[in-house]
Amino acid sequence: MDQLFAAHGGKKLHHANLIYGGAGEDPLGIALRLSAILLCKTNTACGTCRSCKRVEKLEHPDLNFTFPFVSGGNTGTADDFLKEFRSALLKNPFLDPDSWQRQITSKNQQLQIPVKEIQNLQQKLSLTAAEGGNRVLIIWMPEQIKAAASNKLLKLIEEPLPNTFIILVSHRKNKLLPTIVSRCAPWSCKPLNESSFNQHFANSPGQTKRLLSMVFAPNLGAAITAYDDPESTQIDRFAEWMRTCYKGVPVEITSAVNELASLPKESVKTLILRSLHFLERGFYHNVQNTSTNATDLGEINVQKLSSAVVPKGAADITQSLSSCLLDLERNIHVKTTLTHTSYALHSAFRGN
Ligand SMILES: [Zn+2]
Repeated sequence: MDQLFAAHGGKKLHHANLIYGGAGEDPLGIALRLSAILLCKTNTACGTCRSCKRVEKLEHPDLNFTFPFVSGGNTGTADDFLKEFRSALLKNPFLDPDSWQRQITSKNQQLQIPVKEIQNLQQKLSLTAAEGGNRVLIIWMPEQIKAAASNKLLKLIEEPLPNTFIILVSHRKNKLLPTIVSRCAPWSCKPLNESSFNQHFANSPGQTKRLLSMVFAPNLGAAITAYDDPESTQIDRFAEWMRTCYKGVPVEITSAVNELASLPKESVKTLILRSLHFLERGFYHNVQNTSTNATDLGEINVQKLSSAVVPKGAADITQSLSSCLLDLERNIHVKTTLTHTSYALHSAFRGN
């Protein structure tokens, strides 16, 4: 990332940039830092000039945002959700796609950037910069742009406007059209590590920090959402499912599976991913040695759970949860794969 800022310092910054990272990496934060530099009166992101103050509040008139949203707003553009977006990002500087989805819809709706939003952008960019300096357009999750809108975006990228910088911020670069990727200067982010977690949760008890980083690392954005809203962590749901798998009573497994299958698919995927993290880390970090039960995230007996992960079963657990995740991606029947996974976990816990 130093290279990105150096490119700007040397006036070599391309007009279209693609900043990308996997889950938990911080491409949005980096895009904001770059925007601060581009819009700062002294080009340094000084933090004290009027422009910097406005960028900090995400209110600079020449800092435009586009992001996926649900249809049904007044204008059919991202502007309908700008207020929510600002407050979500100010509250959680590591905002991740899943937290954003939770913020604006409780249903299993696919968030999108529709054609109308790209037209909206074209119109905004056809006006001159409000402050007469640089303009920045951050497009968060361009992978969610509707196919029909992609060509319009391509046109926007291909025809640079004076003093206008487009920053695409992607969490799934492989879902982007190659034609779009090839026209942007690519910058990749590094995954966040435990020290980012410790830094962010510096004032929280050590146990909470450990639990959050165990379940969510490297996804700090998800950890922040979970910390602010324990309801959304699915920790209790996870604990309940693990207890059921451990016991292995068929009628209980069936009812647990029915309950899980009634959730939005994205939530199930998130749950599986977190379970995978938790069990792997719980086992490898040998949490038996840490004290338990007193977390801010509801009741979960880390000790009991991790002691259920016997060495022989650890590899099986990883394997069955990973293939469950793949099945869900491939749209295989949710109940079938969850049932199969529950029994596989039961055997793994018992080490047979
Ligand atoms: Zn400044």
